[in-house]
Amino acid sequence: MSGVTRTLTLPGGGRDDRYVMTERPQSTPTETYHPLPQGLTIDDVVVRTAYEVKPGDIVVAQFGETRFGRRVSHLSLPYLAHPQSPHRCGCERCDECDDLDDESRHVCLAPSDAYDDCVVLHVGDVLAVVPALVAARFPPLTRPVEVDRFVIEGPGAPQGPYEGLRAPRTWGPWDRVSISPEAAVQLAEDLNARGAESGLTAEWKADWLVISWSARYRGMLSADRRYGAAGREVIEPDAEGRYRIGRLWRWGLHDEPSA
Ligand SMILES: [Zn+2]
Ligand SMILES: [Zn+2]
Repeated sequence: MSGVTRTLTLPGGGRDDRYVMTERPQSTPTETYHPLPQGLTIDDVVVRTAYEVKPGDIVVAQFGETRFGRRVSHLSLPYLAHPQSPHRCGCERCDECDDLDDESRHVCLAPSDAYDDCVVLHVGDVLAVVPALVAARFPPLTRPVEVDRFVIEGPGAPQGPYEGLRAPRTWGPWDRVSISPEAAVQLAEDLNARGAESGLTAEWKADWLVISWSARYRGMLSADRRYGAAGREVIEPDAEGRYRIGRLWRWGLHDEPSA
């Protein structure tokens, strides 16, 4: 199927104003292209300016001018449009909206959520979209489960990484990370492999993970290092079987080695 293209024009655009739409690329190890709802193809795509995008349209790609001419770039994660005026989209001044010099010439196509800033585009930006009426004939657009890799940064030796659910924008190093049962088993093994002098031990009571700390370890976490009491936390799996672990150490995001 590679090499299939369609040449599209904007509504009211001249015949010379052409946009070449290509097949959605396959994911590679470095680039992920989440699939469109099953059955959708480039035959279902039209070009629209950001100003013309309607609620319920699925935005799949954007056209840009480069030194080598006009090029389509496919979005890693197609999104459902909810066009609104920036600053009236309900976002609490995300970075995208905060930087905006002239809101009258921009449109917010998707308001910020726990993970991402608003999608703010110039009204004249050209997009490839599946119109809402067409999209309605296919299964709904789903958001994939997204993950990050987390490391224990300290106190003590770094450890990890462990895969956990993607960190929301407000996430901080002392917040909880939601890891799978497999990652929890690995984490417990790694903690115990460090030996008792690390101040942390892990054990399983059926499917409960019990993490114990020494007084000295607790002292390392507090501002005043002289004080600390030994203790333990029992972590039960949540409804999805995941373990939400936080406040026992400083988590950090793992920098992926470039492939
Ligand atoms: Zn915003
Ligand atoms: Zn917005």
